Amino acid sequence: MSSAVAFEPFTEDHQAFRRTVREFAEKELAPHARAWDQAGQFPRALFRRFGELGLFGIRHQAAWGGSALDYWYVVAYAEELVRSRSGGLGTAMLVQGEMATPIIGELGSEEQKREFLAPALRGDKIAALAISEPDAGSDVASIVTTARRDGDELVINGSKMWISNGARADFLTLAVRTGEPGHGGISLCTFPTDVKGYAVGKTLEKVGNQASDTAVLYFDDCRIPARYLLGEENQGFFHVMTGFQGERLAAAITAVASAQLLLDGAMAYGQVRRAFGRPLGSFQVWRHRFAEHLAAVEAARWLTYRAADLFNRKETAVKEISMAKLVACDLVQRVAYDCMQFHGGMGYVVESDVARAWLDVRALTIAGGTSEIMKEIIFKLVGS
Ligand SMILES: Cc1cc2nc3c(=O)[nH]c(=O)nc-3n(C[C@H](O)[C@H](O)[C@H](O)COP(=O)(O)OP(=O)(O)OC[C@H]3O[C@@H](n4cnc5c(N)ncnc54)[C@H](O)[C@@H]3O)c2cc1C
Repeated sequence: MSSAVAFEPFTEDHQAFRRTVREFAEKELAPHARAWDQAGQFPRALFRRFGELGLFGIRHQAAWGGSALDYWYVVAYAEELVRSRSGGLGTAMLVQGEMATPIIGELGSEEQKREFLAPALRGDKIAALAISEPDAGSDVASIVTTARRDGDELVINGSKMWISNGARADFLTLAVRTGEPGHGGISLCTFPTDVKGYAVGKTLEKVGNQASDTAVLYFDDCRIPARYLLGEENQGFFHVMTGFQGERLAAAITAVASAQLLLDGAMAYGQVRRAFGRPLGSFQVWRHRFAEHLAAVEAARWLTYRAADLFNRKETAVKEISMAKLVACDLVQRVAYDCMQFHGGMGYVVESDVARAWLDVRALTIAGGTSEIMKEIIFKLVGS
């Protein structure tokens, strides 16, 4: 008799929650996705709507407005969020609940949780995670934005680049240099953006994720209380790398769900679009292409679920998360390419979901750690 136990991460409660998010994404978000892309942003009021629905606080502590649920709710949320058909909106919302704020929940003081975390979970304040700089993206250890101590204040000078939610953020979870060059001299802090000397530079025009603002930020002698340091001084590199795990896992989940949605859409299209007297989907070359992709997506999904399971149990998952991000984010590029090809001319028209998805998913192998950086991490951990 086998002693194996079936691994089914989603309970009935998870699935009920999934249905709620799906309905919300399909009815309230997807119909506007194209218009938000054209406008270059979605309405600010949506942050509050997500807050009301509890979507920012899924795994956050109840004391600060969270629901203290397990990570499988986040998986279900991120999977369904792709049905908004807006990669930009998905990025913005995942930054708010899953990237900029978990670290405040873990390391923040009571004051930081009251001032930054709680309003962010309600959607009253917009959060951004500001790590990358014009000359330091992959190489986080070389950031040069400094925070000098002056009495009980920090004086911040420098700039940040490619910051999602950056143009309208009310506060930043900000990486600064407080000590020696290299990874040992970096700290994190919470930074309110109404401070004198802070300026949003240009909002970057991107090829996809149009509805998400991605900004350049400037700091000119910005003074904040030193008690806004997040976690231990000069331990920021370690905290950034820890925080990256949630970000990379969210990217892998998004990539798998996007690939599945693209394939489902293409197969449905293949039943109605006809050429040479037959439905497109009846051509064996496409059936085989889709079969290969469906199998690869299933493999990527279970690699991602393996990483999510470890993450959910708060076990070390750097190897699994890096592998999942690498595999899923690379895979969705090929899936999007083929699904676009399958749609022919319509695939090249920006009003089609497949064209916008092709543009949106492109960011997944770059943001939050590139595929090359994932390979570096994986080889360091398991290579020889
Ligand atoms: C849409 C979008 C949203 C973003 N949002 C945020 C955000 O909210 N907050 C934030 O802080 N940052 C954000 N970023 C920045 C993002 O994290 C960086 O762009 C990314 O980490 C890569 O850094 P880089 O652009 O400086 O590329 P570089 O580090 O200059 O790398 C350029 C190329 O060289 C390769 N490379 C670098 N090092 C190595 C190596 N050791 N071996 C082999 N190849 C290597 C890279 O893989 C890449 O292909 C965002 C980026 C995008 C595109």
